[in-house]
Amino acid sequence: MSFKNITVAGSGVLGSQIAFQTAFHGYNVSVYDINDAALEKAKERLTILKDTYANYFKDEEKAAAALERFTFSSSLKEAVKDADLVIEAIPELEEIKINFYKELATFAPGKTVFASNSSTMVPSQFAKYTGRPEKFLALHFANEVWKNNTAEVMGHPGTDKQYEEQVIEFAKSIGMIPLHILKEQPGYILNSLLVPFLNAGQVLLAKGVADPETIDKTWMLATGAPLGPFAILDVVGLQTAYNIVATEAKQNPAAQPIADLLKKEYIDKGKMGRATGEGFYKYPNPAFLDPDFLKA
Ligand code: NAD
Repeated sequence: MSFKNITVAGSGVLGSQIAFQTAFHGYNVSVYDINDAALEKAKERLTILKDTYANYFKDEEKAAAALERFTFSSSLKEAVKDADLVIEAIPELEEIKINFYKELATFAPGKTVFASNSSTMVPSQFAKYTGRPEKFLALHFANEVWKNNTAEVMGHPGTDKQYEEQVIEFAKSIGMIPLHILKEQPGYILNSLLVPFLNAGQVLLAKGVADPETIDKTWMLATGAPLGPFAILDVVGLQTAYNIVATEAKQNPAAQPIADLLKKEYIDKGKMGRATGEGFYKYPNPAFLDPDFLKA
């Protein structure tokens, strides 16, 4: 394996999971965040993840050992001084990422490969700021990394294939299933499929074509899928769904009725999805899990 020292930049929801997954598989991980308060928060997240991993993998010892493999720094220079790979998981704002890559370019050793975990942006947006476009690509994880173990690996046209291969090998070495994307694509594979699918369900609802349960039932019965679009939207969370559709509505007025409906009927009533106990369905016993849900 060519990478030994891994730095994870940004230790929020995804960064802390990526860091833990990496340490759980034996790597020493340098965790970088903007200040000491953010790093304290990271330590809390990693401690909670230790329990999550211990329970999920039924291996307390391995999870506890992972917790010993972190170093923490709010100095980017210090955090990347010997990095073979930097995985960036900082906020999804272009300006923040551009500034980060400009700074990273000045501090990282020549050998360091940079990988972005951005969900909606593509590597070619940032390649020119990295000082090493050939060593820059995306490595995209899914939330709840320990069980949703996809790793979408995607270069931009200037990425040298040997680094894509190295990142694929690295992803395998931390227990991920690498999915190699051959051509740059906003949303990778997963969100290129999922976002239009979820959107199509919401369009049917906003037009009054059918209610959420009927739409989900149709999809589940006809395809054998375990969940329909509204059950998935409850997992994603209705605030995130609203943010996506409200952004879309700025360019495409046809999306506005969907945004209005989500806000008025769900968000304003505190129905945010599975995390709050109610969204399109009520939890912990949503109707779609009822054995009679798919019966006539
Ligand atoms: P988050 O807000 O939970 O965490 C962001 C972290 O970055 C915070 O710890 C923050 O202190 C830190 N940060 C802020 N500015 C920084 C800077 N200039 N340099 C370094 N760190 C900085 O965000 P998140 O949900 O973990 O998302 C991070 C990235 O991962 C985004 O690009 C997002 O698209 C992607 N992602 C998120 C998910 C998800 O489900 N949350 C899934 C896949 C990918």
